[in-house]
Amino acid sequence: MLNTEAATTTLRLERDRYALLAFCWGDLLLTLDPRLRIETVSGASEALTGLSEYAWTGRKFTDLIAEKDRGRIAAVLETLTPTRRALAGTIRLAGREGATGTRVSVAAHRLDTGRDAIFVSMRMLAEDAPDEPEEIEEVPRLAERLAAASAQGAEMTLFAIPEIPRDTGGPLGETLDDLLRAHSLGGDTAMRLDSRHYSVLHEAGRSFGPVIHQIEAMIHAADPTAPPPRIESMTLPMQAEGMSESDLARGLVYAMHRFGEGSELSLHEAGQRLRERLSDAMGSVTRLRRAIDDGVFGIAFQPIVDLYSGAIDHFEALARFDQAGTGSPFETIRLAEETGLIEDFDLAMARKAVSWFRTLPLNNENICLAVNISGRSINSAAYAEGLHRLLEENHWLRRRLSFEITESAQIADLDAANGFIQGLRRRGFSVALDDFGAGAASFRYLSALEVDAVKFDGAAIRHAQRAQKGRAFLSALTELCRRMGISTVAEMIETPEALAFVRDCGCNFVQGYLFGQPAAEIGRFAQLPNRGLLVPLQRPRTVAHH
Ligand code: C2E
Ligand code: MG
Ligand code: MG
Repeated sequence: MLNTEAATTTLRLERDRYALLAFCWGDLLLTLDPRLRIETVSGASEALTGLSEYAWTGRKFTDLIAEKDRGRIAAVLETLTPTRRALAGTIRLAGREGATGTRVSVAAHRLDTGRDAIFVSMRMLAEDAPDEPEEIEEVPRLAERLAAASAQGAEMTLFAIPEIPRDTGGPLGETLDDLLRAHSLGGDTAMRLDSRHYSVLHEAGRSFGPVIHQIEAMIHAADPTAPPPRIESMTLPMQAEGMSESDLARGLVYAMHRFGEGSELSLHEAGQRLRERLSDAMGSVTRLRRAIDDGVFGIAFQPIVDLYSGAIDHFEALARFDQAGTGSPFETIRLAEETGLIEDFDLAMARKAVSWFRTLPLNNENICLAVNISGRSINSAAYAEGLHRLLEENHWLRRRLSFEITESAQIADLDAANGFIQGLRRRGFSVALDDFGAGAASFRYLSALEVDAVKFDGAAIRHAQRAQKGRAFLSALTELCRRMGISTVAEMIETPEALAFVRDCGCNFVQGYLFGQPAAEIGRFAQLPNRGLLVPLQRPRTVAHH
């Protein structure tokens, strides 16, 4: 495998190289000397570069790379220090004789092996593969880094860097990202927060003076006519007692993504915002973890009312994470979805609903409950299996427990999702499509997923009320559902006007503050508010399905 020059490489270097292979997945692994000359090559060099490993040894590494990426990669490799990996991201290799080269994802690492060497691993990427790793994939990596740093503790430094001029923003911006990453924990835990702020996670006690000077010089060199840039930085401790590294990582990723644009903020204000985001995210992850593991969360119930009889058809179970049980779970649910915790939570909610049924006094056999399931959970085989097991054990709840699918946009595979839904329906648990809007996507879901009901999103209804053809659209939609044997629920009905509107448009059921805000006890709805508004009407005949 190795040529004669490489055969002289010390055993130690070999060992490190193969140890590295274990975490640097790759199609091609190179070792470089500090001047970036290729010392050894192993792996699919011909497939990637069209040249055999022998042809590369002794040449400059940057010759391998397409011209546009060369400067950027050289800049990062030159700033590597031992034990600090730089995930340089996606680059293109130089093609042979002017052809377009292969797209690869590249990672570099400089090891203190007694002899200075840089290890580079490359993995081939499909042309249409995304540039950056997916959000969710950041979590396990980050968790690993945090676990590794936990002896010293981790800190986060916030940098305020003047906006890079538009014309040089591309390559200079990328070099800057790469540089910060090279100095972050594990070489891949730096992040751009907005157009001016960057966060870098690192071992506690690290000083960034030289890096700051380097960046200032780089920006100045790109535009020497501009006044010399000044970079400010601020270091925040990472406090997360009692959290697992993976939960800490989930919180970090979520907080970083939620920083928002803050280029107008002073360093102090940006630090304050970052601190708040972090503390909110950690609070939410901790609550969510307790909710999932110990069932520490509440349910608020809201009635879904039959427009024609005025009777309560069933209640929707809404998760509550605050003590008072009045706050919206929206942020926590979003966090659960973004961090992949949602499937565990949705299962915890289904369990809680089952327990709640057990607490009902006798003679309440007609009380029904709908539980939300995120479209994201449906993708998970573990969730589907867990839910089916729960329902099998609690078959007595058939026709009393139903499900609402929220966040349909997160359903990865509509056919598989429909299979899951039909599984529930066959067992006697009905399914609604939640947050149904007027958008074209909604029709796609409606045709791909066979459900018992659709719930029209409050915003869609308000829009229909205002829009010129809104009434015609909503009426056509409810008519379509009626013909398919699907019931229609209008959500967020707050006023008698909205109620009259959806009734005129042919909806069967309503839900909203007009008939009560969600409450911890269903007894609250024994006297349904505004029931008088529901004059008994003759129900349009539903055409049976098939
Ligand atoms: P959703 O399933 O569409 O639930 C209806 C939301 O509208 C609830 O918000 C309810 O409090 C609110 N609402 C009801 N009537 C009115 C009204 O007249 N006016 C206004 N402005 N709002 C009204 P909530 O409780 O904040 O829940 C927000 C979302 O969080 C839910 O929307 C659902 O998507 C999600 N969610 C709640 N519990 C769970 C859960 O256990 N699992 C999952 N995956 N998602 C959940
Ligand atoms: Mg719902
Ligand atoms: Mg809804």
